[in-house]
Amino acid sequence: MLIAKVNGERCHATKGAKGICPFCGKEVIAKCGEQKAAHWAHKSRKECDTWHEKETDWHLMWKNYFPIEWQEIIKYDGQTGEKHIADVCTPQQFTLEFQHSHIKPDERRSRENFYKNMNWVVDGTRLQNDFKRFSKKIKENSDIKIITQIHTVDHKFHVGNILEISFAEEAFPKDWMDSTVPVVFDFLGTNSITDKNDIRQCVFCLLPIKTSGCDRYGIQILKSAFVEHAKTGSWENFVKQTEIGLQNMMKQQEQARIAYYNSIPTRHYYRRRRNWRL
Ligand SMILES: [Zn+2]
Repeated sequence: MLIAKVNGERCHATKGAKGICPFCGKEVIAKCGEQKAAHWAHKSRKECDTWHEKETDWHLMWKNYFPIEWQEIIKYDGQTGEKHIADVCTPQQFTLEFQHSHIKPDERRSRENFYKNMNWVVDGTRLQNDFKRFSKKIKENSDIKIITQIHTVDHKFHVGNILEISFAEEAFPKDWMDSTVPVVFDFLGTNSITDKNDIRQCVFCLLPIKTSGCDRYGIQILKSAFVEHAKTGSWENFVKQTEIGLQNMMKQQEQARIAYYNSIPTRHYYRRRRNWRL
């Protein structure tokens, strides 16, 4: 974990420091090695948040993109008394959960129900095949179509695309297909790449909405732009606006389809058919 209480203040770990876990109240010890980012460690995590998984560098990297005030926020459910530590929670109560390891569907659902206004960020580098399958789909260029381009506010830079995805289950890890909230895949992880054309410079967000034909929608965006938006609190709104736009588009397509079928002159058609029989 990144946050512990030292003399009542929320602090990051510094060499030799001891602190108190804000969640379980047990003592935690600062770990400030050269390999891993500075963090706090419990002597035993057993009595702490059961949802809290063993953290990797990838977790610490993602949490550290955000201000200390937003990191590891304890969230309560007033009705059930349940409490958990949100990895990152913005002042607008929007939660980001960083998930490295496999998560069982019922645990995934209970976290989605608990946090409600949340996005997952998933480590797409844990399983080697995940990125292979995904990049193959992108290269095939048939099942993933660009609907709209995303630009910076001043329109100078193209930072991403809104995507329509057919056979999404062949592109994204299947564990995440039924998520009720947006899932952001990070296929770069803690690696660094310099090739600007490498698609791993982008994160890919799978939106929960589905078309009547079971196609899915997604947002491809430069990781730097995603972090920037998430930091200003505008990512959450951007996703909501995108979903509203896509839902309107689906409605219009459906209306156009109905209008097209209604425009077919049925009487004329049947009369002709009758003639064919003669
Ligand atoms: Zn604890």
